[in-house]
Amino acid sequence: MIATMIDTVGFAAPSAEAPLGPFAFTRREPGPTDVHIDILFCGVCHSDLHTARAEWAGTVYPCVPGHEIVGRVVATGAAVKGFAKGDLVGVGCMVDSCQQCASCAEGLEQYCERGMTGTYNSPDKHTGGVTYGGYSKDIVVDEKFVLRIPDGLDPAAAAPLLCAGITTWSPLRHWNAGKGTKVGVVGLGGLGHMAIKLAHALGAHVVLFTTSPDKRADALALGADEVVISRDAEEMAARAGTLDFIINTVAAPHNLDPFLSALKRDGVMTLVGAPAEPHPSPTVFNLIMGRRSLAGSLIGGIAETQEMLDFCGKHGITAEIEMIPIQRINEAYERMLKSDVKYRFVIDMSSLGTV
Ligand code: NAP
Ligand code: ZN
Repeated sequence: MIATMIDTVGFAAPSAEAPLGPFAFTRREPGPTDVHIDILFCGVCHSDLHTARAEWAGTVYPCVPGHEIVGRVVATGAAVKGFAKGDLVGVGCMVDSCQQCASCAEGLEQYCERGMTGTYNSPDKHTGGVTYGGYSKDIVVDEKFVLRIPDGLDPAAAAPLLCAGITTWSPLRHWNAGKGTKVGVVGLGGLGHMAIKLAHALGAHVVLFTTSPDKRADALALGADEVVISRDAEEMAARAGTLDFIINTVAAPHNLDPFLSALKRDGVMTLVGAPAEPHPSPTVFNLIMGRRSLAGSLIGGIAETQEMLDFCGKHGITAEIEMIPIQRINEAYERMLKSDVKYRFVIDMSSLGTV
């Protein structure tokens, strides 16, 4: 039998230098455990820009980015148990993993020892090509990697939870942010604003570090208890030794020392920002004096993503978004580079109908 394919359309980067534009391609017909999703909204993550412009190694062109996907189920494979036609669902940064290694067994598929399959720009075991992401009309995903969007959340504003939300939730939970802890957030962009909202809802005292003084009022409204202008050496020095945990979301190389100095003894700073070039190495004495740790964290597992979504449903948490038609994606990337995002672009996928 010759497998039929689903014709679809999206926006792709044809090369590292060229702007994204319309791209026709196919999705696989849903297999027994697959869910076919009509994409309504897709958030715009800085990782999309890093990948589209080959700032990280290994971009395959054409590249269809997008891993903050919210849509409606249009069809399910015969063996699908958890989802039905019409359900509002999400897909985040992964669409597959080996399901056999120790990390997968622990529900930490993002650390799959055989390599998880990213929603875009990963080898696609079904097609033999590369995976294409959420800047597109529809997608077909194994049900193990499909999330339920809780009732009551605005579907467009919930889309960024699938990456910005889980990438900040996972380390906040792992390092026990909550009542009685002081948490620093570095950078007020897509990830940073979710980190503030989630840390605040978990009960932590939240200190935002920003390079943008004009974001101060917004940060306080989002749930920060204090705002520090990170380029002001005096303000930084006043925070020395005060924080239990810092989540650093900055997408560009910068001096880590002033932030490590802000940690208490045994404090941890986790890097989630993934700049193309390395940060300057921090001063070793800043770590030794106070037994401080510098760590990293990658998105989050499927079970904890559902846990985060359910928490957001209960607390009414979504992203602050600026909705754009897909035709404005290249302009959105330029604004992201200027830290001019309040605080996540979300693509209204109905705009694809007009390409
Ligand atoms: P974003 O919306 O562009 O936010 C980044 C923020 O960093 C900016 O708004 C700005 O905040 C600050 N910033 C930018 N350039 C800076 C500079 N030169 N010096 C100091 N601060 C600067 O990006 P995002 O979507 O939140 O993503 C942030 C990073 O996380 C990206 O590198 C992305 O690839 C990465 N990421 C990692 C994971 C993971 O699993 N680890 C998942 C998703 C994304 P202020 O204006 O407040 O200073
Ligand atoms: Zn992302």
